[in-house]
Amino acid sequence: MTSELPTLEKTWQGTAVSSGVAHAVVHVLKDDFDEPDAEPITADQVDSELARWRAALDVTHTEIEALQRAVGEEQGSAEADIFETHLLILDDSSIRKHVEKTVREKLICVDWVYYRLMCKHMDALRGLADSYLRERFLDIKDITQRVMRHLRGELLNHPMFDDPVIIVARDLTPSDTVQLDRSKVLGFAIETGSVNSHAAIIARSLGLPAVVRLHGICEELHSGDPVLLDGDDGMLILNPCAATLTKLRSREEEAEEREDALQETRHEPAVTCDGCAVEVCANAEFIEEMTAIRDSGAEQVGLFRTEFLHMENPDGSEDWLAESYTRAVRAMAPGQVIFRTLDIGGDKVDPQMPFEPEPNPFLGWRGIRISLSRQDLFKRQLRALLRASAHGPLGIMFPMVSGVKEVRLAKTILQECAAELTDEGYAIAEEIEVGAMIEVPSAALSADLIASEVDFLSLGTNDLIQYTLAVDRLNERVADLYQPTHPAVLRLIRMTVEAGRKAGIRVCICGEMAADIELTPLLIGMGLSELSVASGQVARVKHAVRKLHAGDCESVVQATLHLDCPLEILEHSRVLSLQRYPELFE
Ligand code: PEP
Ligand code: MG
Repeated sequence: MTSELPTLEKTWQGTAVSSGVAHAVVHVLKDDFDEPDAEPITADQVDSELARWRAALDVTHTEIEALQRAVGEEQGSAEADIFETHLLILDDSSIRKHVEKTVREKLICVDWVYYRLMCKHMDALRGLADSYLRERFLDIKDITQRVMRHLRGELLNHPMFDDPVIIVARDLTPSDTVQLDRSKVLGFAIETGSVNSHAAIIARSLGLPAVVRLHGICEELHSGDPVLLDGDDGMLILNPCAATLTKLRSREEEAEEREDALQETRHEPAVTCDGCAVEVCANAEFIEEMTAIRDSGAEQVGLFRTEFLHMENPDGSEDWLAESYTRAVRAMAPGQVIFRTLDIGGDKVDPQMPFEPEPNPFLGWRGIRISLSRQDLFKRQLRALLRASAHGPLGIMFPMVSGVKEVRLAKTILQECAAELTDEGYAIAEEIEVGAMIEVPSAALSADLIASEVDFLSLGTNDLIQYTLAVDRLNERVADLYQPTHPAVLRLIRMTVEAGRKAGIRVCICGEMAADIELTPLLIGMGLSELSVASGQVARVKHAVRKLHAGDCESVVQATLHLDCPLEILEHSRVLSLQRYPELFE
């Protein structure tokens, strides 16, 4: 008789960033830089193994030459020369000989041999004081990463699943998320990350549970392991036993009952007890979300992040884009969809763009900066948006604006596109609202100047907080310093609201702060009357608004004006929220 050892539960505690529970097997997403397994091969396989590797080197070579050409055309030959070093490393004959010899002698797969050799080179350079040599470390890393990706085959970058899975990853970039077969993904368990990383934002948008900061899971979990992901308590449980599953199921049932009750009023307007109307809109990343958004109780899309559509098809033609935007517009009509023009950069790196790794990507080539310098891309997008405007209400807003000049330039290009399209015989809407995101402190400080150029302002507090407090929104080490209720952040929000009021234009908030029901009193008290949140949060935020009295909210703001401690300010808002809608905290 054989007796199987019982599988033991193992629990990781992380940070919950998107609620809900999922029970499924995991799919561990390999980082391009994860060490491959040292698979043994037979002597017969050596030639095909080496041929596979040479093919990966060739594709990488072509890829780098293409990058070099694109950068050369755009930024000049000095910048393009950087890629010469990449090509030298790639073609280095001593590396090639060493790999071939080792594979033949040791009969180990080429992935491992090449990876180990390149790591050895990197280790030698890593600690050097000379900054030139340290830079070469990055070059080798970049090359290795590209070759490894091609060795693994592009397919692994676009995983398709037969059955539902929970994605386990060290870090999930927006471009990873775009490539996943989302119809089969039940949740995200991430080693790093933070509540404001785009993986977390997307999970909330898609209504999937997500937990970040689950240290060590990529090492210990293997694709196919059964887990339970608890996005409410921030836990991941490997091999959950029957008792654990039953306990969680009954908790889920209670939560579902509460949620059903909340959803009953989702289509009713959000008006405070004393008659202040608050528009609660939805944020969107994917066209497929539109049905869920219509059903969520939101009548408008306050922020459509267009970079995800772009990353799905970076070479998509103007026609394809116009068609995609039109689908979104038609799905929401008569409600308006506000499209944000491309906000590539920061963590939303488009793998196909000729990006040289930047030392401070969040302070670098990002958002409107890219659009204004890559006018071919910008115009394609603007023309597609203008064409979609013929099919329903649409607004356009510009991200990462740091001053009024960028807004004027972007508007001029928009007008040029509109004139071209009219000449070409396309129908475009007569009225298209144009707005600017206020997410850089300089934009908030000059919101009055920007307000005179636009129809609306939209506060992107995710970035506004990181830039104001100099706290990387993705860096878990400084996550405690990321404080939405820091007086400096609140002052910038108040300045923006005031600038909008004086100019007679609306001011919306579309950062994650808008969905935090502990902060709703503060936001309403500061005069915000448009909140754009993940679709799953719409009913909740509307409910919170209906329970509040705008007068009380203003008193909360007054009481906090002289306070210097972010936690104390938060507490004032929290107390009112707990008094007015305790049911939302159960
Ligand atoms: C923001 O910064 O608040 C915002 C909405 O933009 P994103 O999160 O996409 O940077
Ligand atoms: Mg932003």
